[in-house]
Amino acid sequence: MSKTIAIVGAGVGGLTAALCLTRRGFEVDIIEQAALLTEVGAGLQISPNASRILAELGLLGALEAVWTEPDAITLADGMSLRPLASVASGRFARDRWHAPYGVLHRASLQRILLAAVEAEPRCHLHLGHRIDGDPQRAIAAITGRTPTLIVGADGIWSRLRNTVPGAGRVQFSGNVAWRMTVTRHAAAGLLRPDRVSAFLGSRAHLVAYPLREIDGFNLVAIIEGKETDSVWVGKDADVRRHDYLAAFSAWNHGLRTLLKNADSPSYWPLCTVSDGAWQDGAKTVLIGDAAHAMTPFAAQGAAMAIEDASALATCLADTNDITLALRVFETGRRPRIAQVRRRAAFNRFAYHARGPLRIGRNVILSMKGPEALAADFDWLYGYGAPAR
Ligand SMILES: Cc1cc2nc3c(=O)[nH]c(=O)nc-3n(C[C@H](O)[C@H](O)[C@H](O)COP(=O)(O)OP(=O)(O)OC[C@H]3O[C@@H](n4cnc5c(N)ncnc54)[C@H](O)[C@@H]3O)c2cc1C
Repeated sequence: MSKTIAIVGAGVGGLTAALCLTRRGFEVDIIEQAALLTEVGAGLQISPNASRILAELGLLGALEAVWTEPDAITLADGMSLRPLASVASGRFARDRWHAPYGVLHRASLQRILLAAVEAEPRCHLHLGHRIDGDPQRAIAAITGRTPTLIVGADGIWSRLRNTVPGAGRVQFSGNVAWRMTVTRHAAAGLLRPDRVSAFLGSRAHLVAYPLREIDGFNLVAIIEGKETDSVWVGKDADVRRHDYLAAFSAWNHGLRTLLKNADSPSYWPLCTVSDGAWQDGAKTVLIGDAAHAMTPFAAQGAAMAIEDASALATCLADTNDITLALRVFETGRRPRIAQVRRRAAFNRFAYHARGPLRIGRNVILSMKGPEALAADFDWLYGYGAPAR
């Protein structure tokens, strides 16, 4: 196989794929519509299954310089603040899953990936070019060469997905997220800087974690929404904000005040991509959100894009038969993605439970000891780790 690959999209998936592919000897063009790479949204949790791959790419030192490795991931009741469960992280994560669990600003991860891409002579980044129409032709016009393979890493609203017969479709998940940040001072007494804190309530939950870069916390509040909430525009912003604060009206007063006073909350209808083909057996393969965008209930979307990037590079390096490589990639990754989707769906059910289900959930969680709680994550975080 000729070794020229074009990647459309320079998000987490596209940049990681570029690094994984060039490490395997491929020449890579990355085409990105944005003229400047700036990340929207604030924080990101990078679990051990993803940090292991970033470490293999030699990026761990740069990550450690900016991120926080929380000591624990805790679940608490959003009304009473009563602790429900705590999964050890920090040193424990490194020992158990052989890789760290870190939280950082999205812009930091993007800056680290971009610096590595720019330092790699076989990576050619083309900013400010949107791919529309026939991708092969559009790419050749930008790069001056026709790629052997196009990797669609162009996110949930992927343009490349239209070129893959039988690919999935975008659908509204029934939930919306509000993303925001608060200062350390504003969160004093409520949020701990050494924790990922998840607060659970009926039809809503809130996740908070520290961001060193802003000396504060990232907050993601997820509530149930109606079909009319699936679009970004069309509803008055104040009405929307009122609806969202109403979803937390029975919550702990301190958390309500935190949400009310948070800096510029931004609205995200949560969409997913339904099951469908990820590749056409010849010219195009989709990775990350373009292939299988999922809800963030397991905080795994970016991690899956990183895993895809690494797996695809391995498959392409293993054979000169591109059809075989794409088939092996897709069949190898499908069960993993399905399992992570199931975990996200389960979390959604458990986190937003109400009435007797909520009581049952709390009883089950309180009966699980630290070992059982950690063991529940072995398949997810231990993926790709050396056997214990
Ligand atoms: C509220 C929320 C919280 C989340 N928290 C986490 C978390 O803690 N941990 C985690 O692992 N995941 C998390 N996720 C999921 C994660 O953000 C995504 O899964 C991840 O960013 C997907 O990366 P990607 O590279 O596939 O796509 P994207 O990041 O969307 O990148 C796509 C890129 O393609 C470019 N592009 C698009 N179309 C074109 C075109 N036609 N031509 C050229 N360029 C194009 C875009 O400009 C963009 O740069 C969260 C998601 C949400 C909504």
